[in-house]
Amino acid sequence: MSEDNAFENAKKQLENAARLIDIEEDELEVLKKPKRIIEVSIPVKMDDGSIENFTGYRVLYNDARGPGKGGIRFHPDESLDDVKALSAWMTWKCAVADLPYGGSKGGVVCDPHEISDRELEKLSREYIRRIYKYIGPDQDIPAPDVGTNQQIMGWMMDEYEKLVGEHRPGVITSKPVEIGGSSGRNESTGRGVAFMIREAADRLNMELDGMTLAVQGFGNVGRHLVKSAGEMGMKVVAVTDAEGGVYDSSGLDFNELEKSVDKHGTVVGSSYDSITNEELFALDVDVLSPAAIENVITEQNAGDIKADILAEAANGPVTPKADSILSDMDVFQIPDFLCNVGGVTGSYFEWVQNNYGYTWTMDEFRDKLDKKLRQAFAEVYDLHKEKGIEMRDAAYSLAVEKVLRAMRIRGEI
Ligand code: NAD
Repeated sequence: MSEDNAFENAKKQLENAARLIDIEEDELEVLKKPKRIIEVSIPVKMDDGSIENFTGYRVLYNDARGPGKGGIRFHPDESLDDVKALSAWMTWKCAVADLPYGGSKGGVVCDPHEISDRELEKLSREYIRRIYKYIGPDQDIPAPDVGTNQQIMGWMMDEYEKLVGEHRPGVITSKPVEIGGSSGRNESTGRGVAFMIREAADRLNMELDGMTLAVQGFGNVGRHLVKSAGEMGMKVVAVTDAEGGVYDSSGLDFNELEKSVDKHGTVVGSSYDSITNEELFALDVDVLSPAAIENVITEQNAGDIKADILAEAANGPVTPKADSILSDMDVFQIPDFLCNVGGVTGSYFEWVQNNYGYTWTMDEFRDKLDKKLRQAFAEVYDLHKEKGIEMRDAAYSLAVEKVLRAMRIRGEI
């Protein structure tokens, strides 16, 4: 099996976490396998009259702590092993924030940018027709992921409700607000990262006000991180995206960056000095936050990092080799599945509101998010201190132990 097989990596990470907790070998073997795998074929009549037969998956990795939770990815390179790995990571992510969920993930092998809106809608609805018996507010709750968006969630929810004959908005999260989406959900990942940085600064006795921050990525996560960090008194000095980046030692103005993105589709083009992605990683700032794509901090550039805190807003931004270099360098890492857990926490709030018919104000939403994330950070940090282990190992072992306890109590193992 190749080293970049995501599911093999997920199993290795689980084995590493297992070394830190009290677990029997046969229990570990159970945890290494998803509970349920569904593979479906989805024929769609295309605009030119031909029929294309797409493949879709939905994997429920574990539901000992609650219904499955995990996004649906539309991508041409999607594979069952990827979906299995992502479903395992969702299991640990939900457990680390103590959300009453298990973990799951779904995917369809397709290129959503190469098909028409009509074909995309048909594909989304047909996918739901094939898996609807296995999803639901109390069973398994999808959300968007790479290649899917709020509109697709809207079609999927609508199809599900037609099939069950009831309004069940809690079946899917990150929906458009008009049909039960939560207004706080969109910003919850980026805002959550800012909350995590605040918690880290507090433990490291660093003053939040004026703390310098460099962010890679100005998409959903990066944008809300930059905005929230500014509101909390941090000074964002550099931001990059796929086209390049901008820098100002006295701080960047969020509205200027937004204007540039609206006009040019990138932060490049505003009046600030230019900076490359590689230069951003090497900046002498208090906090560096990769909030774009995976594997950007590698053994080649990890040694250049001068930040005291690395806030892993993206999923998997640090390669395993870079990870051990950073540990030796004493960079305080907020591991990805703790750092960006605000996203699924926001989804959880949307689900709660749907299930109970609540509409929370933005302030209520933010306040609840803050409390939940404070608690998640504190649990991981305390274990990291108590056992003298890395934050990532603390987060992983804590999450796996919670899932294991739930399975033992149920008598599943
Ligand atoms: P997005 O597509 O909205 O934005 C991605 C940003 O990264 C864009 O600004 C893009 O220009 C930039 N980018 C892409 N390739 C780049 C490159 N090679 N170099 C520098 N910048 C590059 O994505 P997003 O929703 O903001 O997600 C970002 C990361 O956060 C992903 O790893 C995602 O899995 C993770 N994440 C997102 C959420 C969420 O709620 N959106 C939740 C948890 C984790």
